[in-house]
Amino acid sequence: MAAPRATSEGVMVRVCMAGVWQAGGVKIVFNARPMAESRADVVVIGAGIVGIACAFEAARLGKRTIVIERDKESRGGSARGFGLLWQGGLAPSLLSLAAESLKGWREVITEARLWSKQDGGLTVAGTELEAQVLREFAERAPDLGYAVRFLDPQQAAGKSPAVIPSAIFGALHSTGGVGVDPGEVLTRVPEWLASDRGVEFRYGCAVADVSMPTVRCTDGSTIKADRVIVATGDRMDGLFPDVFRRNGIKACKVQMLQTVEQPRAWDFGPSIALGIASRMADSFNDCPSIDALRGTIAARSPELDQFGIQPIMTQHADGSVCIGGSHEYGEAAEEPFDKEIINEIVMREVKKCVQLRDWTIEYRWVGKYVRSPSRPLVVDEPQPGCKVAVGAGGSGFTLAFGHARRIFENW
Ligand SMILES: Cc1cc2nc3c(=O)[nH]c(=O)nc-3n(C[C@H](O)[C@H](O)[C@H](O)COP(=O)(O)OP(=O)(O)OC[C@H]3O[C@@H](n4cnc5c(N)ncnc54)[C@H](O)[C@@H]3O)c2cc1C
Repeated sequence: MAAPRATSEGVMVRVCMAGVWQAGGVKIVFNARPMAESRADVVVIGAGIVGIACAFEAARLGKRTIVIERDKESRGGSARGFGLLWQGGLAPSLLSLAAESLKGWREVITEARLWSKQDGGLTVAGTELEAQVLREFAERAPDLGYAVRFLDPQQAAGKSPAVIPSAIFGALHSTGGVGVDPGEVLTRVPEWLASDRGVEFRYGCAVADVSMPTVRCTDGSTIKADRVIVATGDRMDGLFPDVFRRNGIKACKVQMLQTVEQPRAWDFGPSIALGIASRMADSFNDCPSIDALRGTIAARSPELDQFGIQPIMTQHADGSVCIGGSHEYGEAAEEPFDKEIINEIVMREVKKCVQLRDWTIEYRWVGKYVRSPSRPLVVDEPQPGCKVAVGAGGSGFTLAFGHARRIFENW
């Protein structure tokens, strides 16, 4: 199957034939028809990255596992992101969880033969004040557990041909970052879990309700299970809406762009974040100059804060470059339309420090994720044996396998 593509309408398209994909006695079912009641040790609802990581963990524990996904392919937040597994922006308290998650990712990357980019990430400073913040971070980073080094402009250009050395004041290089292709992850990992680990995936089948031990799908089929994990992403009005309400979970809307494939197999190098992005990352909170940077941006470029602009770029397996993004909450997050002004601001900012061989934009889309105001992932148990895992936030890809390990601990 081809990797999913984001269209200008914000819809992911990939033709997915109705039928059954079968290997090693296990199956992935598309457009599942009503079937007799089934039985499983674990049912996972939602085949985004959190659901897939939970299925991986359940299979590791030897559980007979069924994953139910409402769409013919995963189209939620997981399908729409950068695919960066990046500790650089996380609060220090999350680093051990990120390291644990990366172990799971490494196994999956190897076993499912995923494309990955292992050259880390660069945060490039477009002003001396941004460079000052990055230097302050680099000084304290080793004690906190971040693997980073401050580079001068020429050294940064040596890491990435996309960096314009004359336009920057230095860069922070994070060595631990890994890039994966979300579209490939969401197809190949289920295929591998089905063929090698015996997990059954049912696509095109929405769950209507859970009343332990019974999971009831909208096509009339039912599954009885000892454990149910609800990993339904930003569908806050679907299953267990109370869990979202009582945990103060809110949705965040992010606008994204993707270029055409870069010519002549051009390698962009590490993913790139602009220094202005550091004002929004928890990891920089204790840098002495961060408040000065925040104040300067608020005074000189209020539009960056108005739309939560945090410019990041990364190259995917097909050679295209993914560019984002914005952060809009509340009513703005529910608006059905993209704002072209956001795309213009993002492009204006990245072009100050970064050069591409071809800036032609092929796709534009919107992604949503949900986040809790206080926790990286909310795990609630609304019924005995049924856990809801929501609010993975903007680091859901990075932390998914660590979260899954914790969800099953002592359960
Ligand atoms: C634009 C963007 C960029 C991002 N970039 C990164 C990044 O680079 N690195 C990083 O770490 N994180 C990133 N994130 C965050 C990360 O993508 C999310 O935290 C993560 O994908 C959330 O995964 P999920 O499985 O909880 O949700 P989803 O991916 O939304 O999956 C939920 C699934 O549940 C299904 N579902 C819903 N209701 C039902 C039902 N009733 N029955 C059956 N199925 C149902 C949905 O169809 C969906 O497929 C980004 C997010 C966005 C939006």
